[in-house]
Amino acid sequence: MVQGSVSGAKSEAILSQSAQALIGKHVSALDRGWIELIDAMPHPASGVTADNVVVASARVSFLGESKGAEADRKLIHYLMQHEHHTPFEHIVLTFRLKAPLVTWWQWVRHRTASYNLMSGRYIELPEDEYYIPTEWRLQARRNKQGSEGALDSEAAQRLTERLLEHVERGHQLYKEALAQGVAREQARLFLAGFSVYYTGYVTQNLRNLLHFLRLRTAPDAQHEIRVYARAIYEEFVKPFAPVICEAWEALHAESSD
Ligand SMILES: Cc1cc2nc3c(=O)[nH]c(=O)nc-3n(C[C@H](O)[C@H](O)[C@H](O)COP(=O)(O)OP(=O)(O)OC[C@H]3O[C@@H](n4cnc5c(N)ncnc54)[C@H](O)[C@@H]3O)c2cc1C
Repeated sequence: MVQGSVSGAKSEAILSQSAQALIGKHVSALDRGWIELIDAMPHPASGVTADNVVVASARVSFLGESKGAEADRKLIHYLMQHEHHTPFEHIVLTFRLKAPLVTWWQWVRHRTASYNLMSGRYIELPEDEYYIPTEWRLQARRNKQGSEGALDSEAAQRLTERLLEHVERGHQLYKEALAQGVAREQARLFLAGFSVYYTGYVTQNLRNLLHFLRLRTAPDAQHEIRVYARAIYEEFVKPFAPVICEAWEALHAESSD
């Protein structure tokens, strides 16, 4: 059986209780988006923590288990620093989330996650499910992909109104095409594509999820996906796997020196 040290048993029990509260936790993102943790392995109700799983799977090499909280912590740091990544693959998280297409577009490039998304071929997309930003960022001068600063508030207000008009007009044309019997899969060509919110499931093991989080919490990632990546890390992954995250942060603090 996978278990923590006797000395660490009390803190693990507290951790396990807080981890249990993570299943079903709902966190808002952007104007209409959200993230929920649907399931996790190890399941928090099992009393086994993610940190325990890494220790037990790494020590199976010589059929050992926990050697106490401090030795376990050192082992996790060692594994992370030396890129002995496979023990982290035994931890798996499943999220249900709602994000605009501009965010999904980047998210699904991460091939090591499994995805299922609602389909605009099956359902008619609702008219109030569009991402409307609260500010308009300016094109970065040096980074061709990036943004910096923001449009002044008066110009931003006008632009937001234009986007709302655009979204509304597109949705109206979409409804007109549907009313003429056009298939949902094609009528959606009228929608303000990148703004449309989609709901989906994402399942990923912790090794690959941390890789996703490193790339998508970085300053050069687009703001919209960073909002989701930061929330996943702070609200779910960190409380679920605290020692692993401590080791991960230490590693990336060193590598960004
Ligand atoms: C800031 C930023 C800007 C970007 N800009 C662009 C852009 O302009 N254009 C663009 O097309 N993409 C862009 N991307 C997407 C990027 O190229 C990757 O597709 C995306 O970040 C997924 O990374 P990944 O392949 O490491 O992750 P995953 O697909 O999750 O893969 C994880 C790891 O598994 C291994 N792996 C997975 N599949 C393979 C494979 N087929 N062969 C070998 N190894 C594999 C690799 O080690 C990989 O790092 C950008 C990403 C970021 C973060």
